Amino acid sequence: MSNCAIVGINWGDEGKGRMVDLLTCDHDIVVRYQGGGNAGHTVVNELGKFALHRLPSDSFREGVGNVLGTGVALDCESLWTEIQDVAAKGVAVTPENLKISDRASLLLPWHRDLDALEEQRLADKKYGSTKQGIAPFYSDKFQKKTVMAGELLYPDKLREHLAGILEWKNLTLERVYGAKPYTMADLEAWIQAYGEKIRPFLCDTSRFLRQAQAEGKSLLFEAQLGSLRDLDYGIYPYTTSSNAIAAYAPVGSGLPTAKLDKVVGVVKAYSSCVGEGPFTCEWHGEQAERLREAGGEYGAKTGRPRRVGPIDIVATRYGVQCQGATDIALTKLDVLSYLDEIPICARYALHGQQTDQFPFPAVLPDAEPVMTAMPGWKCDISGVRTWEDLPQAARDYVEYVEREIGCHITYVSVGPERDSIIIR
Ligand code: GDP
Repeated sequence: MSNCAIVGINWGDEGKGRMVDLLTCDHDIVVRYQGGGNAGHTVVNELGKFALHRLPSDSFREGVGNVLGTGVALDCESLWTEIQDVAAKGVAVTPENLKISDRASLLLPWHRDLDALEEQRLADKKYGSTKQGIAPFYSDKFQKKTVMAGELLYPDKLREHLAGILEWKNLTLERVYGAKPYTMADLEAWIQAYGEKIRPFLCDTSRFLRQAQAEGKSLLFEAQLGSLRDLDYGIYPYTTSSNAIAAYAPVGSGLPTAKLDKVVGVVKAYSSCVGEGPFTCEWHGEQAERLREAGGEYGAKTGRPRRVGPIDIVATRYGVQCQGATDIALTKLDVLSYLDEIPICARYALHGQQTDQFPFPAVLPDAEPVMTAMPGWKCDISGVRTWEDLPQAARDYVEYVEREIGCHITYVSVGPERDSIIIR
């Protein structure tokens, strides 16, 4: 029995989904422990290409159990849509292979409205929300103004609880934003349409996971987004509204006593970032366009072009430290094959001094990248499967990154397919 967390080291979209898909064969249960539908994992396997936003990335392998833990933002409406989408591609998600924590809180219809209304109010100062309702959801959860999923099992108590929250929430909708209030009938209809669909999946996942560990089963925890978007340790306020770091995995899973034996930090061979906020090593113009095209850097959820740049050693080292990574998976190395030279952001210049330390968020926008470069390899490496077969220049790049970030690069990914991987 060995528990593992797969986490993003940077701003998200590092390729966590493909690593979960690869590593689940060594685990019995995959658990998502935070976040909601505001990010997507892309998995390519023998059944096709899947962009998953809420389901764990291994809803595909037979015999693997999937859990949505207490820490997720449970959006019944979009989860049900996603379950139906994968069903249309031949993947059956049933209460047998998906367990949802009865202690997960519900993302309610007004959370999405409030997200959009607030971004609209902020106009050019907006945070770049995906408008999935995540920030309003988590703030309500911490204000104790939403309901737990398990309340769907007790309809009378649920209605009474919702009626109280409805009255309070309409004050904000109407008086702050001038928006249309909700009625109890709206909520009844929403429960019928979506809550009822999710009800059969609910269970006491703490008990389920405790029992699984007692039987010697191993858990794989799957994060959404990356270290730099973590609410406490990221580039606040351009963070997500939950904790994406590995330390939160046991808490958000429903099994707070779970031990992590391995933390695989996923790092992309270059940088990408969706949404607003400081992104020190950002490229613009043609240079950015070529990298974006080469890497297919368009949001899995929104389709919007991602901001891109070279690898950022300062941010990556910080991300590794936040996660306590034991192993690194370096993904998309194949994407850099077109470059004559591989540019690297090695340090930052901040207020007249060079630094290796990731700055405090308030001064991060003042940082400038200090660049270096290494020779490119200029050949297709997507078919390479062993370390020895990788061109010397590519090996040098991997070893340089490894040295600088202070963590062993165990996996080098050279393509999106399950087997496009070099294990060191
Ligand atoms: P996640 O949210 O961290 O799972 O990342 P995304 O799914 O947003 O982004 C990863 C994208 O890159 C997906 O489209 C993957 O199929 C793809 N991908 C993952 N690893 C590799 C790789 O090594 N090479 C290439 N070319 N694509 C990859």
